[in-house]
Amino acid sequence: MKSSYRAIQVGHDKRLELVERPVPKPGAGEVLIAVEACGICGADASDIDRADPALVPPRVPGHEVVGRIIALGANTPSSWAVGTRVGVGRLGGHCNECNECRRGHFNLCRNQPVVGSSCDGGYAEMMIARATGLVSIPEELSSVEAAPILCAGIATFNALKKSGAEAGDTVAILGIGGLGHMALQYARKMGFRVVAIGRGDDIRADALALGAHRYIDTRQETAAEILKEMGGAKAIVTTIGNAAAVAEIMPALQPGGQIVILGVGKDPLQVSMGYLVGAERGVMGSMTGTPFENEKALDFSVLTGVRPRIEIMPLERAEEALEKMKSGAAKFRIVLTIGERTHADQ
Ligand SMILES: [Zn+2]
Ligand SMILES: [Zn+2]
Repeated sequence: MKSSYRAIQVGHDKRLELVERPVPKPGAGEVLIAVEACGICGADASDIDRADPALVPPRVPGHEVVGRIIALGANTPSSWAVGTRVGVGRLGGHCNECNECRRGHFNLCRNQPVVGSSCDGGYAEMMIARATGLVSIPEELSSVEAAPILCAGIATFNALKKSGAEAGDTVAILGIGGLGHMALQYARKMGFRVVAIGRGDDIRADALALGAHRYIDTRQETAAEILKEMGGAKAIVTTIGNAAAVAEIMPALQPGGQIVILGVGKDPLQVSMGYLVGAERGVMGSMTGTPFENEKALDFSVLTGVRPRIEIMPLERAEEALEKMKSGAAKFRIVLTIGERTHADQ
């Protein structure tokens, strides 16, 4: 094995810098992964902004990681072997000790690293990961295809499953970007009447091609009014951080309907309590998913032909890729490729 590897880390000025680092040894319960692909998520931008400048070594972003295990620490389960292709999403592996873990709510574990934020992520040739956070990758998916499913995919797949909507129900997706473009595909394949809500007319054709039965351009139309004319939505999944825009769509919820929040914003969400009580409407947040649930999202993607729409860029161009994602110009996910093996996989 090499003695050093290349990584993209957050520099003091919050710019990304390419560095060489010594190859680490995996500790107990950990594995070392040779990264092949890493998706660029919206959360990466805030991870970089919030990265602690005093941290040594600086943080490596990225939490849609696919690679191969190249070394095992002590006490790792026999299901993970050197050479196995694995993924790591936003959650870096649960502790199996806290109350949330004892309840089986592994995604809510209180002692879980957040990949790319509280531990190093996948903008690198190598990465250490807890074995409890590993996701097995089906052969049918290339590494670049699988990577975005590990955050954008699982987040929307689980949100739709938790929403209470059933086949035939109307489900609206607010925000058609990295997450939204996966949500549209999953919602269509789950048997919903799918309404995509976005800004501008330039993504109408893409939204319809991805599975929407109806596209609403909020620059020209009032989404809540149109949804109400359609009989209301049983569920609305929001991927945007703009609380005011989420509040605007709420009147479109059917009685008993649920709004599932995936976008993270700082502003409070304004909602009348009577509106919730009067017809038992609900507002819930959904927090990505466990590795087991991530495997279900991957399996569902293979079974139904759902794939992220990706642009591929090499690791060295991470900064440029990140800027493109932030500008909203990415369609719909940028995936960094790392190492020679990735090319053989495509
Ligand atoms: Zn993410
Ligand atoms: Zn725990």
